[in-house]
Amino acid sequence: MTALAKIVHTAPEIEAEPDLTDGFHLVIDALKLNGIETIYGVPGIPITDLGRMAQAAGMRVVSFRHEQHAGNAAAIAGFLTQKPGICLTVSAPGFLNGLTALANATTNCFPMILISGSSEREIVDLQQGDYEEMDQLAIAKPLCKAAFRVLHAADIGIGVARAIRAACSGRPGGVYLDLPAKLFSQVMEAEAGQKSLVKVIDPAPAQRPAPEAIARALDVLKSARRPLIVLGKGAAYAQADEAIRALVETSGIPYVPMSMAKGLLPDTHPLSAGAARSTALKDSDVVLLIGARLNWLLSHGKGKSWGEPGSTKFIQIDIEPREMDSNVEIVAPVVGDIASCVQALLDGMGQGWQQPPADWIDTLKTKREANIAKMAPKLMSNASPMTFHAALGALRTIVKERPDAILVNEGANTLDLARGIIDMYQPRKRLDVGTWGIMGIGMGFAVAAAIETGKPVLCVEGDSAFGFSGMEVETICRYGLPVCIVVFNNNGIYRGTDSDPTGRDPATTVFVKDSRYDKMMEAFGGDGYHVTSPGELTRAVNAAMDSGRPSLINAVIDPAAGSESGNIGSLNPQSGIKKKV
Ligand code: ADP
Ligand code: MG
Repeated sequence: MTALAKIVHTAPEIEAEPDLTDGFHLVIDALKLNGIETIYGVPGIPITDLGRMAQAAGMRVVSFRHEQHAGNAAAIAGFLTQKPGICLTVSAPGFLNGLTALANATTNCFPMILISGSSEREIVDLQQGDYEEMDQLAIAKPLCKAAFRVLHAADIGIGVARAIRAACSGRPGGVYLDLPAKLFSQVMEAEAGQKSLVKVIDPAPAQRPAPEAIARALDVLKSARRPLIVLGKGAAYAQADEAIRALVETSGIPYVPMSMAKGLLPDTHPLSAGAARSTALKDSDVVLLIGARLNWLLSHGKGKSWGEPGSTKFIQIDIEPREMDSNVEIVAPVVGDIASCVQALLDGMGQGWQQPPADWIDTLKTKREANIAKMAPKLMSNASPMTFHAALGALRTIVKERPDAILVNEGANTLDLARGIIDMYQPRKRLDVGTWGIMGIGMGFAVAAAIETGKPVLCVEGDSAFGFSGMEVETICRYGLPVCIVVFNNNGIYRGTDSDPTGRDPATTVFVKDSRYDKMMEAFGGDGYHVTSPGELTRAVNAAMDSGRPSLINAVIDPAAGSESGNIGSLNPQSGIKKKV
């Protein structure tokens, strides 16, 4: 034994400090363990360091200018990836700003987790006036699918696991996770901390349909003379694209896509009845709903849009059993996940499947061709200023040439007309205002679409819709994202031509005339374009998308071209008092 070794050997033993971890690190480790790589948020007390540390730990942390847009980004990330999108906000006001997006995610069945810092329980519960005091958990609860609070660092793993399961399993939705400030600095032994984390196994388990339910559905389908499939955004979310295509093509049944299901099969598919939607709904005798709800967007399955009461039988595939009979009777409920249900229907059709009668297919084909022919000249219009149709005709060609670009779309006329005019060719490429018809999703969706998919994004925005999230062009520039925004600038909401009857103020629905939204993009280093004709619009969008740079095109639209509330003017209540003339 050497002298040195002897000294070491005889030195008094120093108790080694155990490795420590804390709430900050446990939250990050729990997310990473579950394959979550991106956080969308706005920093501030008490979560600023959480964002910093997450970035240092290799996560993508995308900071926005307002929580609502970070929340919308998280929600659509959830839709695109089937993993819960994470939104991180500060307490009370930041939390409230994120809540609209959380509620919207829940309404649209997008998996999302809103993680919010909060103030101290003891002070909040005694209402002693803490910094940003608010009982956030109680407020979030009715607006989301589930809400949890974690008080001890050792429970972070379970808290995150519960949040992930709640967001993804069954019908997906928004989840709130409340993390009080004190939690983040709580310390525990690293090894115990590591052991407390939970990797969620199979967060969205397959839910196979009962064989009787499939047999019943096939019996009803076989009896149909004029069958129709309606594809909803649940079908897009499910990523069962091949099975859905096979079901449509094997059955020979025409289909109508709901807005965000466009492109699941290309809109140009011979069985697409999208351009004959009214006829398809009204004249069908059996309708197979796949991930689509019979809510207002389908006139609740009754009334003028549909045939005589009782003349349409509904089969519905949905993961949520309580969706059945929510508006009208569902004669064949098929409860389960779409991939399993569609596959089971396909298997049940077997070899001897009879395609629908040719006269039904022909009726829809004739109607579709007539509608397309009627629309064609409007799309070619060279009127100055531009009509919505002419501008959308230009964009329609661009999307055809760039089918892998993601289209984000909001507005009133800009939304309703774009949905009908712009054909989609690939699944999950159209992101829009969804079930609520919410305005303000534009920039949040665009940022997440670019980040999650790496694809170019084309945002087609009404000037009013753009205003809700317009400040996020700075975010788009900061992260250098390939987002091309086209603002349909018609000087106002619906139209830019209203005036205040008293002559005092601008009308409630108009904006500053001839605004230059393109300058907003230039202010942050992106590219601005100002266009007044379809030809200029085409050149500008192509240049912007080729460059891959943040771009904004101010497209001047005739202020008189729009109609009140786009396609849904009938939802405006009318005054019960007759006007005296
Ligand atoms: P759209 O507005 O396009 O008609 P909705 O949002 O109204 O679509 O409907 C989507 C439906 O899809 C919801 O009822 C939801 O429960 C259902 N859903 C979502 N994901 C799945 C899935 N993986 N399997 C089965 N149903 C699903
Ligand atoms: Mg407008």
